[in-house]
Amino acid sequence: MEGLNYINGQWRPSRSNRWFEKRNPADTRDLIGRFPLSSADDIAEAVAAARQAYNHWRLVPAPRRGELVRKAGDLLVQRKEELARAMTREMGKPLVESRGDVQEAIDTAYYAASEGRRLFGYNTPSELPNKVNLSFRMPVGVCGIITAWNFPIAVPSWKIFPALVCGNTLVWKPSEDSPHCANLLAEILAEAGIPPGVFNVVHGDAEAGEALVRHPEVRLIAFTGSTAVGRRIASICGELNKKCSLEMGGKNPLIILPDAPLDLALEGVLWGAFGTTGQRCTATSRLILHRDIAEVFLQQLCERVHTLRVGNGLEEGVQVGPIINERQLQRIESYVQIGREEGARLLVGGYRLTDGEYAHGFFFAPTIFTDVTSQMRIFREEIFGPVLSVTVVDSLEEAIAVANESDYGLSSSIYTRDITAAFRAIRDLEAGITYVNAPTIGAEAHMPFGGIKATGNGHREGGWTVFDIFTEWKTVYIDYSGRLQRAQIDTDVVS
Ligand code: NAD
Repeated sequence: MEGLNYINGQWRPSRSNRWFEKRNPADTRDLIGRFPLSSADDIAEAVAAARQAYNHWRLVPAPRRGELVRKAGDLLVQRKEELARAMTREMGKPLVESRGDVQEAIDTAYYAASEGRRLFGYNTPSELPNKVNLSFRMPVGVCGIITAWNFPIAVPSWKIFPALVCGNTLVWKPSEDSPHCANLLAEILAEAGIPPGVFNVVHGDAEAGEALVRHPEVRLIAFTGSTAVGRRIASICGELNKKCSLEMGGKNPLIILPDAPLDLALEGVLWGAFGTTGQRCTATSRLILHRDIAEVFLQQLCERVHTLRVGNGLEEGVQVGPIINERQLQRIESYVQIGREEGARLLVGGYRLTDGEYAHGFFFAPTIFTDVTSQMRIFREEIFGPVLSVTVVDSLEEAIAVANESDYGLSSSIYTRDITAAFRAIRDLEAGITYVNAPTIGAEAHMPFGGIKATGNGHREGGWTVFDIFTEWKTVYIDYSGRLQRAQIDTDVVS
C-alpha cells in the first residue's frame, strides 16, 4: 500500500519523492505501507492551504463546525472495528485496547462537537456607566499538531476535534510509527465534510516536524511526545513567540499501603505496568510498596506476571503486545543492563523473546526490578516499555516523598482503604492526575489531562480546559455613553 500526504483535500506524495516504510511490529514481514518522508516544501504547501482555508473556516458558526466533528464521531462509530484492527496491526497493542483507543476518539468527538454550542465567554459589569464589557473565544489561526504513536487515533483526536470546533485550521505531522492510522482519521474527517485545506496531514520525521514548528504562519504547536523533543520544540516556539502546548513523558508511581485491597491492587499493577506493553505516558513504572506487605505482594505479582500472555495483539487472549520498533527494544534492553549494574534485583523477565511466534517481531518479557532506590536511573528515567521498578518504604510519608522524587509529574496512584491517607496523597502527590484504588492509567475524555514538572508546560488537554489551548481571548468594551469616559480616571460616578 502507498500512503500519501493529505493537503488541501487531495492525496499526494511528497515533493521530494522520498519514502519510509512502516511494518507490523508483531511480524515485520508484514509491510503496512510506504509513506512520504516529507520536507519543509510539503509543510509549506500544507500551511499555505491551511492559511487560505482559515479565511472561510473561522467564519463558519461554531455550532456548524461542531456538527461536522459530530459526523466524524459517527463515522468513527461505524468504522470502529476496522480502525481498531488496523491500529493493532500497525502499532501492536491488543485489539481490546485499540478498540478503547477509537472509543476515546469517539467520546472526544461528541464532547468537542457539543462545545460548538457553548464556547462560553464572560460578560462582566463595567466600572463606568453606559458601558458593556464582553469577552469572546477567538480561533488562534493555523495550528501545527505533532503526535506520538502509542495512541494513534485517541491522542490526535484530543487536539484535532477541539481545535476544529474552535475555528482553527490544522497541519498534522503524525508519528512515523503510526502513519496508516493517521490517514484513516484523515479519510474520516474528509468524509465528514471538513472542507479542503482546513485539515491537512504531512507525514515524515523530525525534519518535517521541525519545519512545521518553524513555519512563520503557524501560530500554535500542540505536541505529544517525549520530553526531550518537547523541550526542543518549546525553545523554538519561545524564540518565535508561538503558543505551544506540550504533553510529554511520565514516570508514574503507584503506592500500596498495608490496608489496601490487595487483590484489587494486584490487578491494578498488572494493568498499569504491562497494559500497552508499558508504552504509555501514564504507565505505572514505579511501584512503591509498604514493607509490611512487600514480600507477599511481590510473590503474588511475579506469579501473575509469568501467566501474562505476550504475543500478536490481533490474537485472542493476548494481553501484552510487541514493542514498537527495534530502536525502542534496544533502549529497553539497555535499561535492564543499567538496572543490573546499578544493583537493582531482577525478579522476573529482563530479556527479549525471540523464539517461535516471536521470531519476526519486537517482543520483550514483562520485567520487574526490586531493591530500586531513588538514585537509580531505572527509577528516574522513562523507559517506555514493560519494566516495573519496585521500591519498599516504611510509611505513607516516605511513600509520598519517594513518589515525588521524580522529574516527571503526570499520573499517580494510591491503594488504601484509609480515607485520611487517600486525601493526604491527593494533596501531596506532585502530579497532574491522582487515582485512588485504580492504577495510573485510564483518562476520561471530559476531564482535564496533563502533567506538571517535565511532563507539561501548564496546559491541559481533554475536558473543558483544552479550549484554552485552541482559543485566544478577545476582550470587547462597548461605550454607549456618547462621551469620553476614562477608565480608572473618571471614577466619580456614584453621586
Ligand atoms: P517522540 O518525542 O520521539 O516523537 C513524537 C513526535 O515528535 C513524532 O511525530 C516525531 O516525528 C516528532 N518529532 C521528533 N523530533 C522532532 C523535532 N525535532 N521537531 C518536531 N517534531 C519532532 O515520541 P514517541 O517515541 O513518538 O512517543 C513516546 C513519548 O511520547 C513518550 O515519552 C511518552 O511518554 C510520550 N507520550 C506522552 C503523552 C501525554 O499525553 N503526555 C501521550 C502519549 C505519549
